[in-house]
Amino acid sequence: MTVAVKTFGRIGEAAAALSAERGARFFGGGTILMRMVNEADPDVATIVRSTDPALARLAVSSGRIELGAGATMAAILAERDLAFLHPVARTIGGPAIREAATIGGNLFAHSPYGDFATALLALDAIVAIAGGFGQREQPIEEFLAGRDRGGRQLVTGVSFRRPAADSFRFVKVARIRPKGVAVLSIAAQLPLASGRISGARIAYGAMDRAPVRAKAAERALEGRTLDAAGVAPAVAVAAEGAAPVDDAIASAWWRREILPVHLRRLLLGAGA
Ligand SMILES: Cc1cc2nc3c(=O)[nH]c(=O)nc-3n(C[C@H](O)[C@H](O)[C@H](O)COP(=O)(O)OP(=O)(O)OC[C@H]3O[C@@H](n4cnc5c(N)ncnc54)[C@H](O)[C@@H]3O)c2cc1C
Repeated sequence: MTVAVKTFGRIGEAAAALSAERGARFFGGGTILMRMVNEADPDVATIVRSTDPALARLAVSSGRIELGAGATMAAILAERDLAFLHPVARTIGGPAIREAATIGGNLFAHSPYGDFATALLALDAIVAIAGGFGQREQPIEEFLAGRDRGGRQLVTGVSFRRPAADSFRFVKVARIRPKGVAVLSIAAQLPLASGRISGARIAYGAMDRAPVRAKAAERALEGRTLDAAGVAPAVAVAAEGAAPVDDAIASAWWRREILPVHLRRLLLGAGA
C-alpha cells in the first residue's frame, strides 16, 4: 500500500490536512506511527508533518508552563527549569526513542505506553487543539476520555501551572530498568496547606486503556498528612476506578495487586 507524505510549514495547514482526510495521521516522532506504517496498517493512508517551529517550543516560567506538542523527551531533559519532569521523560524508551518521541505522540499512545500523558493528567494540563473548526482548548481528562473517538485533530501543545516545589512525584514500575515499558506508572501532585494535603491530583498509567485519575484515593487524602496513618485510607482505595488489562507486560490481576504498594511508597516519599 502506498502512503502519501504531506509536509506543511504552518500548523494551521497541517491541521486542515489532518481533519480533511480520514486516513491521515500526524507524524510526531514516528516511534509508534512508523511501526503502523511498516505493518501496513490500513488506517494510515497519509502522513501529515509540520515544520512549524512553534510546535517544538518550550515556554517555561515560574507560573505557567507551555510545551509544544512536537517537543521531544530529550528536549524536556535538556531544559533545567523542567527538572521536576525529568524523572518522567527519562523513563520513556532508550536514548534513541527519547530523541524522537514527542509529547503529542505520548498523548495518543495506548497503554502500557503514555507515561508523560500520565504526568500531564496529574498536573491538570490543558490540551490545545487545532482542526477544521479552528483552535480550542480542552482539559486533559476530557481529552484522554474522548481521544479515540471522532475525527483527527492536531494537538499543538499543552499548558499547566508549575507545581509547588517538591509537590510533584512520579514512579514507574517496569520489569527492566531504566527503560522498560510500564507495569504501571503513578504521577501525583500533592499540595500541602499547613502540613495537610489540599487538592491532591493522582494519575495512573497502564491501569486502563488511557491514563486515569485515582479519584477515590485523591478524596481519601484530603486534609491528611503524608505519614503512614495519614495515607492509609488512600492506599486502601487505591485500585478503585482502575480497569487494567492483561498484556505481555503484566496481568490485570498483578497490576491491581501491586498498585497499593507503590502508591503507599510514592505518598510516603519512599521511592519505588
Ligand atoms: C522501543 C520503544 C520503547 C518505548 N517506550 C515507551 C515508554 O517507556 N513509555 C511511553 O510512554 N512510551 C514508550 N514508547 C512509545 C512512544 O515512543 C512514546 O509514547 C512517544 O511519546 C510517542 O510519540 P511519537 O512522537 O513518536 O508519536 P508518533 O509515533 O509520531 O504518533 C503516535 C500517534 O499519535 C498521533 N500524533 C502524534 N503527534 C500528534 C499531534 N501533535 N496531534 C495529533 N496526533 C498526534 C499520531 O498520528 C499517531 O497516531 C516506546 C516506543 C518504542 C518503539
